[in-house]
Amino acid sequence: MSLPVIPTDDTEVYEDPLDLMDEIDELKKEKDATILAHFYVDGEIQDIADFTGDSLKLARDATQVTTSTIVFSGVHFMGESAKIMNPDKRILIPDMQAGCSLAESCPADQLGAFQEQLRAEGRVFDTVAYINTSAAVKSLCDWIVTSGNAREIIERVPADRDILFVPDQHLGRYLMEVTGRKMILWPGSCMVHEVFSIQDLIRAKRNNPGSKVIAHPECPQNILEITDFIGGTERMRQHVMGIDEPTTFLVATESAMIHAFQKSAPQHNFVPVPGIMASTGETCACNRCPHMARNTLQKVRNCLRDESPEIEWRDYFQQARDVLDKSLLQ
Ligand code: SF4
Repeated sequence: MSLPVIPTDDTEVYEDPLDLMDEIDELKKEKDATILAHFYVDGEIQDIADFTGDSLKLARDATQVTTSTIVFSGVHFMGESAKIMNPDKRILIPDMQAGCSLAESCPADQLGAFQEQLRAEGRVFDTVAYINTSAAVKSLCDWIVTSGNAREIIERVPADRDILFVPDQHLGRYLMEVTGRKMILWPGSCMVHEVFSIQDLIRAKRNNPGSKVIAHPECPQNILEITDFIGGTERMRQHVMGIDEPTTFLVATESAMIHAFQKSAPQHNFVPVPGIMASTGETCACNRCPHMARNTLQKVRNCLRDESPEIEWRDYFQQARDVLDKSLLQ
């Protein structure tokens, strides 16, 4: 499947992808490296990776790696999580500028100030953070969840404590519904999942009779209300793999995910749900994450060759690690 080309601020000279893949293979051996790739990066990077998956699976996979170096093809907070879980390994990421609008919507200093305000009001609460947060934010929280395990973790928070959920308001609202727990929601959102257009989804359903909608819980409520299956990327993948009958799925998540779906469940047809531009109201290709799109084969090669950029250990990583250990690895 060909994906829309997202312009980045750095121009790359064309190099043959097959040559790049061979070069990466050689460098991996020379530098004793393992490549992890998120489902949202380009398919050609997923194809050369040793591990692919969602945030939770990759956080767990990173602890199984035996090489001294990990190249994490994803976004910055994922590289931080890999370093937190593997302090003794060198963690390289292809592009240090690959951020995340959701993580950036919850800066650590603002979260700390809000927690102080709640405590001053006498509120007794646990802070539950979605994994799409910086390490500094993770270090201020009690629990870290992914879309795959959020329900189970929230059920572990004692009923007599309030819950402050950060940073994704849409996921938080969905979790309030499925767990029945009231939460204080941080008003953050993902720039990709927020743009799915309800009109285009209804039109796509009409044009594809018998199709099923699968959506990520970071999508707004109006999309989730007409969705047949709601789940994080790995749960969606398991869901389509479990259905033998060839089906057309309308997919409301980052469009690179379709590569992983097609590889895992080739019996089905996958149609990306279009997004809509807030500024003009026109249908757009904004279901491609511009941060994930900063990962290219050339940058994977370059970071292996140059052994840079690297995620360095910070003091607050240990506190973040304690929270991650308690939440994800038990
Ligand atoms: S898709 Fe959204 S949540 Fe995921 S990295 Fe991109 S901006 Fe962040």
